[in-house]
Amino acid sequence: MNDTLYGTRDKRGYWTPDRRPKRAPIFIWPAQPKAILLWLFGYLKYNFAFVAISLVAWVYLTPSVEAMREFGVGWVSLILLRNAALALLVYGGWHALLYIRRRQQADFKYNAKWPDTNSSTFLFGSQTAENVFWTMCSGVPVWTGYEAFTWWMFANGYIPYVEFRAHPVYLIALLSLLPVWHQLHFYVIHRLIHMGPLYRVIHKVHHNNVNPGPWSGLSMHTFEHIIYFSSVLIHLLVPSNPMLAIFQLMLSALSPADGHLGFDRIVTAKEKHIDTNNYYHYLHHRYFEVNYGSSLTIPLDEWFGTAHDGSQEADEAMYKRIKARKYARGLSH
Ligand SMILES: [Zn+2]
Ligand SMILES: [Zn+2]
Repeated sequence: MNDTLYGTRDKRGYWTPDRRPKRAPIFIWPAQPKAILLWLFGYLKYNFAFVAISLVAWVYLTPSVEAMREFGVGWVSLILLRNAALALLVYGGWHALLYIRRRQQADFKYNAKWPDTNSSTFLFGSQTAENVFWTMCSGVPVWTGYEAFTWWMFANGYIPYVEFRAHPVYLIALLSLLPVWHQLHFYVIHRLIHMGPLYRVIHKVHHNNVNPGPWSGLSMHTFEHIIYFSSVLIHLLVPSNPMLAIFQLMLSALSPADGHLGFDRIVTAKEKHIDTNNYYHYLHHRYFEVNYGSSLTIPLDEWFGTAHDGSQEADEAMYKRIKARKYARGLSH
């Protein structure tokens, strides 16, 4: 596979795709109906995978609602085990494929280097070991805590339990908007934890990964996990159904795996590959002060002047912005 047909690798080993991240067609005027339909199809297809996982988890791998009326070690442990297994499967699966088997070597990899295995930056001296630690020992328990709490609220009728049979249109409309809520919530908390002490104490753990791999996705400080998974609390405010809340959590818990692959394209067969849509967030890991949104689905970064598409012009604009901020800070002292 020749990745030079799709981008360029510079002398330092950084690979830049020719195709730049673009805002979703729903935010482009004049409207392009065909592009909007294609985009909508992609949006639904991607999120359908998480709907399917949520349904299977609910039907086959969740204790009965009656059992969840009272907190108990038994049922909470079952959910913890299920979530740990899912995390191992999804994060471990991507990692095994791309970083252990190295199925496509460094083709389409943004950074030609492999994760550090001998660095004092990381716990246990290894990026992957640190990433697995934060994901499994903090991410999965916090995710499970939110899930158990949400189930307990629904099971006891403390929040409205809207039945699919009674309000299918409402629930499907709400379900299809949840990924948008996920992105909005992420943008707000992400900007917050980039501020001074919050960054140094909390968010730095995630940013240790300047060369991210799948396990970096949920490699966050416990406080970040607590605010990151809090997007599910919307189901306490908006009448909903447990299936939708589980979907919200699955999306938060598992989508960072494919959001941090470190590869622009996954080779599926000879000369065939699929776009991972990773570049936008990869640039956040590389440059820190750009692309706070997880993607350009909602062009928040463009509206607030923090978007970076990997081009030289975007680079220059970023340095200008940083310089102006430093200058303004200097004046205020
Ligand atoms: Zn990240
Ligand atoms: Zn960040």
